[in-house]
Parts: sequence; C-alpha cells; structure tokens
Amino acid sequence: MSDQPDVLVVGAGFAGMYAVHRFRELGLTVKVLEAGSDVGGTWYWNRYPGARCDVPSLEYSYSFSPELEQEWDWPEVFSAQEDILRYADYVADKFDLRRDMQFNTRIAKVEWQDDARRWRLTSEAGETFEAPFCVMATGCLSVPVEPKIPGAERFRGEVYHTGRWPHEAVDLEGKRVGIIGTGSSGVQAIPELARQAAHLTVFQRTPVYTVPANRKRMRAAVQQEFRDSYRQIREMQQKNPGGVSNFRPRKSVRRGDSVPADVTRPSDISMPSEAGVPNRLLDLTPEQRAQVMERFGLGALLAFRDVYTNAEANEVANALYRDTVRRMIRDPETAEHLLPKTYGLGCKRQVLDRDYYDTFNRDNVTLVDLGETPIETITESGIRTSRTHHDLDVLIYATGFDAMTGALLRANIRGRGGRSLNDQWRDGPVTYLGLQMSEFPNLFTVTGPGSPSVLCNMLVAIEQHLNWIGDCIHYLREHGLATIEPSPESEQQWIAHVNEVAEGTMYTAPSCNSWYLGANIPGKPRIFMPYVGGYPRYRERCEHEAGAGYPGFRVESA
Ligand code: FAD
Ligand code: NAP
Repeated sequence: MSDQPDVLVVGAGFAGMYAVHRFRELGLTVKVLEAGSDVGGTWYWNRYPGARCDVPSLEYSYSFSPELEQEWDWPEVFSAQEDILRYADYVADKFDLRRDMQFNTRIAKVEWQDDARRWRLTSEAGETFEAPFCVMATGCLSVPVEPKIPGAERFRGEVYHTGRWPHEAVDLEGKRVGIIGTGSSGVQAIPELARQAAHLTVFQRTPVYTVPANRKRMRAAVQQEFRDSYRQIREMQQKNPGGVSNFRPRKSVRRGDSVPADVTRPSDISMPSEAGVPNRLLDLTPEQRAQVMERFGLGALLAFRDVYTNAEANEVANALYRDTVRRMIRDPETAEHLLPKTYGLGCKRQVLDRDYYDTFNRDNVTLVDLGETPIETITESGIRTSRTHHDLDVLIYATGFDAMTGALLRANIRGRGGRSLNDQWRDGPVTYLGLQMSEFPNLFTVTGPGSPSVLCNMLVAIEQHLNWIGDCIHYLREHGLATIEPSPESEQQWIAHVNEVAEGTMYTAPSCNSWYLGANIPGKPRIFMPYVGGYPRYRERCEHEAGAGYPGFRVESA
C-alpha cells in the first residue's frame, strides 16, 4: 500500500472497491480507508434477517470485468445480503483489492491544505493521510439513525439497528421482540423476525406501499443466457433511466414462466402491457382494473406510467392498492391500520417484500399504530404507548438513515481557507453533477446529491462516477493541471435543473415525506436530493463536460 498515494478514497463499499481497480488501471496509486473491518459497505453492515437486493442480481453486479461476469454464480434472481457480501469478498480477492485498503479506520476530518494543495485526512485514532486527490465513497445510506425516544437508554433488553446488525448470530427464539419502522428494512425483516421470535410487536408510524418480490432460484439456463448477452445488457443499462436493462431471457424461458416474471420496480416491469393491457391506468374501465388486480396482484400498479405522473391515476391506484390489501388481512381492524392513506404510490422508494401482509395474519404478531397510540416512553422492559405497555426482550430499530449527505457532513470536510462543507450546505446540498463542490478542489463524491444515485441501479451509477473521476484526474495530469472544482455558477444552474425536473413528480408532492427529501431527519432542509431526470441524460451531460474540456469547472496549473 502506498504511503504517498495519488488518491485517498474513504469507504470500501462497491464504490471504494471499484475505485481501487479503476485508478490502478490508470496508473494511479490509491489508498482506501474504511471504518468497517472488511469490504462490502451496505452489505457488510446490513445483516438483518431478510436483507436482500431489490434489483435483479445479474444487473446489480460490476460490468468492468467480462471474466468476472462469466465466473460468478448467483443462487437467486434477487440476492440475499450474504450472497452479495460473498460476491464483494470474491471481487476483492480476485483483483487483490485489500492490498490498498486499511480497515477499522474511521475518518473524522478531511482538510484541504491551501499551500501544499493536498487533502489531509485524520482518523478517529489520530492517524493522518495525505494525497492531492480525495474521493468520498462513503455511501448514500451508511449512517443509520436511531430516533430520540424518551427513556431509550433505560431499556435493559437487547437493542439492534438493522443498519448495524451484529456479525454474530442473534438468537431470538422464545423472545418477545419489538421493531420500530416499516420502511424497506422493516418490511424485509418483519416476516423473518416473526418466524424466529416468540412474539413480534411492530410499531408502525406510517403504513407502507409494498409489493411482493420475485423469489425465484436462479436457473442455470437463465444465468447462461444472461452471460451470453452481457455486452448487450450493459448497453441497455446505459440507456435506461434507472440503469436496469430489463433484459428478458427468451431462450431459457420455460412454459408456465408467464408474465409477470420479475416484479421489481416501475422501470422494469413489462406487464401488463405485454399481456395486451393498456399501460395507462386511466384507460382501463373499473371492471378491467379489478381484473388486472385479481390477475397480477399489487405489483400490477407499478406497471402503469400514469400512476407516477398523473394525480388522478395515482389516486385510483392508491384506492386499488388499499382494496387489495383489505382482502389479504384476516382482521379488518388490522387491515385498516396497515393501509397507506396520507400519501401516494411513487412518493418513496418502492418497497418489495416476501410475505409482509401475510405476517399480520399470524397469531404471534401484533401491530401497533403509532398514529393512533403514540410511544410515550421506552421503559426498562419495553415500550409504553398512550394505550398500554408492550413487554419486550429485544428492541430493533429499522428507522433508516441520514441519507445522501449524512456521511459527508459527519466527516468534517473543510475546503479552501478552512471553509466547512456543513456551512456551505446549511440550506441543503449544492453540487455540480453530484460529483464536486466549489471551494473543495480535487474532492469528489460518488453518487452524491444532484446525481441519479439512489434512483438508479447503484452499481451502474457507481461505475459511471468512478470512470468519470478517474478520467478527470488523468486529464489533469496529462495537461499539467493541479486542481479542479466547479464554478459556483455551474453548481447553481445544475441545482436549479435538479429541482426543476423533480417538480410535479410524486416524489415532491406536498403529502410526501421521504428520506429523498431529508424529511426523516428533524431539522434537515427539505430538498429533493437525487437527480430524477434519468441516468442516460445525466451520463450524457457528464460526458459532454469531459469531452469539452470541463467548461463548468475551474482548474489551476501545477
Ligand atoms: P456503501 O456500501 O454505503 O459503503 C460506504 C462505506 O463507507 C461503508 O462501508 C462505510 O463504513 C464507509 N464510511 C462512511 N463514512 C466513513 C468514514 N468517515 N470513514 C471511513 N469509512 C467510512 N441499491 C440498489 O441499487 N439496489 C438495492 O437493492 C439496494 N438495496 C439496499 C439495501 C439496503 C439495506 C441498503 C441500506 C441500501 C441498499 N441499496 C441498494 C443502496 C446501496 O447502498 C448501494 O447499492 C451500494 O451498496 C452503495 O455502495 P457504496 O460503496 O457507494 O456505499
Ligand atoms: P426508511 O425507509 O427511512 O424507513 C424508516 C422507518 O422507520 C419508517 O417506517 C419510519 O416511519 C420509521 N421511523 C423513523 N423514525 C421513527 C420514529 N421516531 N418513530 C416511529 N417510527 C419511526 O429506512 P429503511 O427502511 O432502512 O430504508 C432506507 C432505504 O434503504 C430504502 O428506501 C432503500 O433505498 C434502501 N433499502 C433497500 C432495501 C431493498 O429492498 N433492497 C432494503 C432496505 C433498505 P415514517 O415513514 O413515519 O418516517
């Protein structure tokens, strides 16, 4: 590992891992600093029961190595956390990535040295590292948040957060478990926890829209067809707004594998239009809508484009959703509490589940609607709501993350003249292309606010960003340039565009309170952070900047 690297990278998730490979290819020396004890990032930390991907595994994989594509076997169509972590481990071994990584090192300060024109990073333990370039590959969902609930410190039982799940097995047998939160993590964990625990109490503040996930094993023939088509698939990913190819195996399809084959997210559902049904919900009669729901279930609603762009269609879809859920839950009162009524489909990231609603038909599961009976306090032995006390042995927070900006703001980043990023972003994050900030020369963010990021297949977004960053550093070296940073005008214009394209979508509806908007963190400015204009449009803009010699940036000579 180089002591005087060209580039320091913070984070060894999929972004930090690819950074090592890409920068080495460009002849740069690199050093990665990671808080955890190994690679994998999200998949290293989120080991809760039920954790898995919501993008098909064959798509949620690196594209940079055709050899890797041919070698790796995915056991399921949508991978479980442990398989994704095994993949990360395999990639790290195959490309000898750990040679340039230092683990158990949390970076607490990131400071630009004006005179030396270098970044100095300081770990929590006081170790320092320096390099002319710094890449923050710190993740969009890497800072778990635990809400401040009165009495929390008094609880005598076991406490876990889904985003910091222990590496050792957690034994829940015979225990009374409580879980707070019903976002993607909660929805994935709840059915598994119910199977393991003596009793599960679900503390729900806002009901969720969730659709059943594809749960198929990977057939060898399907995997082979993907392998044979990978170059085409990667090209299709580059052209898709969500970075997903939607490649449909044809040769390996068995009779009976009818649509819907892979219910994932709006962009990669091909039914019901494939089945001869119009793809605007409003074009269907009420009888036809009922038939579609009967035939395809909740996932059908994700296939209609107007559900996401037309308020009337959205309302119709929300009502169809609620009617369908009512039929899935035995106890009508529980069903009513599970129905989302205050916001529409498409406001939050779509949640996928395995047996979520069915879990509430189990005798060992209780739903507590915090809207009706709020938590008053956590006690030594459980949670007291306005109605009663719930005795618990284990308390699990599935309460989400300080998303997109959390890890960057916690790293105490200071740019030119000691300027703090936290001050610069007081009213919300401002970046150019989600890649750089003015006054912070040679500092790059991966999948930062203002880029498609979490609205895209993240592996596609990560590779694109690191390729761009690598090319940019290479360009500076080739042209005898020492620093690069965006002009404030480029930033302002870009952020205006980011806001403009988000306006009028379901993401920014006044009724919508999502982590995309920072609404889950008290006091966080309400700004729609990711770029909703689509990955291809964004990529072309990045390519244009690089091709034209970085006109939106300021550079200094070496
Ligand atoms: P991360 O994987 O978050 O890695 C960042 C790393 O930086 C972490 O290991 C962290 O420890 C380290 N770090 C942060 N700050 C510091 C510091 N100051 N010092 C040292 N180290 C630091 N995306 C999808 O596209 N599809 C999915 O299905 C999907 N499922 C997800 C499921 C869960 C439970 C979560 C939480 C996220 C999911 N995501 C999904 C998003 C996921 O985060 C990305 O797909 C991807 O793994 C991000 O990789 P990354 O390397 O950018 O960040
Ligand atoms: P989340 O979507 O932010 O959900 C957090 C949950 O905790 C919400 O139900 C929230 O309720 C609740 N909550 C927060 N504070 C609370 C409080 N004080 N009292 C009661 N309830 C509280 O977080 P997440 O579920 O961890 O998911 C975050 C993102 O990670 C996802 O959107 C997705 O991008 C990614 N992820 C993906 C998968 C996958 O399927 N591949 C799985 C997990 C995570 P409110 O809604 O009322 O705020």
